[in-house]
Amino acid sequence: MIPEHISTILNLKSDFPILNQTHQTGNPLTYLDSAASSQMPTIVIEAVNDYHRRYHANVHRGIHQLSELATEGYELARKKVKGFINAKSKREIIFTKGTTEGINLVAQSWGRANLKEGDVVLLSQMEHHSNIIPYQMLAQEKGFTVRFIPITATGEIDLVVYQQLLADNPVKLVGVTHCSNVLGTINPITEMARLAHEYGAIIVVDGAQSTPHMPVDMQALDVDFFAFSGHKMCAPTGVGVLYGKQALLEAMPPFLGGGSMINEVTWDGFTPAELPAKFEAGTPNIAQAIGLGYAIDYLQAIGIENIHQHVQTVTTYALDQLRQVPSIQIYGDSPSRGGVIAFTLGNIHAHDLSQALDFEGIAVRSGHHCAQPLHRLLGVSATTRASFYLYTTSDDIDRLVQALNKTVQFFKG
Ligand code: PLP
Repeated sequence: MIPEHISTILNLKSDFPILNQTHQTGNPLTYLDSAASSQMPTIVIEAVNDYHRRYHANVHRGIHQLSELATEGYELARKKVKGFINAKSKREIIFTKGTTEGINLVAQSWGRANLKEGDVVLLSQMEHHSNIIPYQMLAQEKGFTVRFIPITATGEIDLVVYQQLLADNPVKLVGVTHCSNVLGTINPITEMARLAHEYGAIIVVDGAQSTPHMPVDMQALDVDFFAFSGHKMCAPTGVGVLYGKQALLEAMPPFLGGGSMINEVTWDGFTPAELPAKFEAGTPNIAQAIGLGYAIDYLQAIGIENIHQHVQTVTTYALDQLRQVPSIQIYGDSPSRGGVIAFTLGNIHAHDLSQALDFEGIAVRSGHHCAQPLHRLLGVSATTRASFYLYTTSDDIDRLVQALNKTVQFFKG
């Protein structure tokens, strides 16, 4: 059962208007798809509305009241991000559209300037497509090699082979997820970063699934780049962050060209602006960034450690309950795991299963979760994934388990 001391933070549903509605089936809405996109608390929805109603204008450009207010709000959000991830400077915080854009920025800017034929980019077998394809695209052009660190039977990165691969190859860049969106595994990033640096490589971390759930401290992790998305941490879609060490960002060429990212433009060329503007060409997603700042306030008010503990407890409870469902197979068995559980149920297709769960008012995700190579390795084309967040309760888990048992019976009969 859920321990008593956790119950103080279990009652957050009332902060999330979307969760307080009834599904069209008449059942309560049970939202178990937060790893895809989490929901927004009222405070974030209102902050975004307030911007639109009261101070919507372009940032950094206008010398008028609305523009100054918008700029203040946007830059305050950057300051909040800096504090949240313990970056050294606001210059290291680049607003992006999300994790995907952040990793593409690293590949297209740092990668284009530094990777060449003969070099190796080392990724893990559990990566999301957004941490594979940007390097595959560039490799086609530049001729470097992309290799993959194998995972163990429990779904953890094989650190022995990782070190061997670093020792045996001219690895320039290690790209790894902090937390797998399929297996749930939380990877030992501090150790992996130490090893990458020992062998002269930089490390780029996909923090899409870790940042919403656990403290991420850029100084403690000592990573070179770290990307994450607002929409998985109570903020709107359309905003994310790329953290990069200042010296690396300063040495990199711009990714996108256009307004805001320049110092001076002539018919013959341009000089780029200082950080972070150099990497924020064009009008940014202002409302969304402000929303992200408020989402950070909300998460910090609850306490990111409390959220982590809550999700751990809910996940442990869910694993215990799910293991009792006949014919279930759960993928990933790392003792260090986040709030996602991917599974198959006998030979019921994952899409049929999600449909059956939707009939019960339960939202889960089915498919390859943008991790096709990993699914191929697991020997399945699709899994069903339930994912949890700070508003998930043991009732949500009980409803899922009940519905799965009902589905098993239905497909039997
Ligand atoms: N990496 C991981 C581990 C993810 O789970 C996701 C989103 O599902 C992404 C990257 C991509 O995030 P976004 O679509 O916000 O760019």
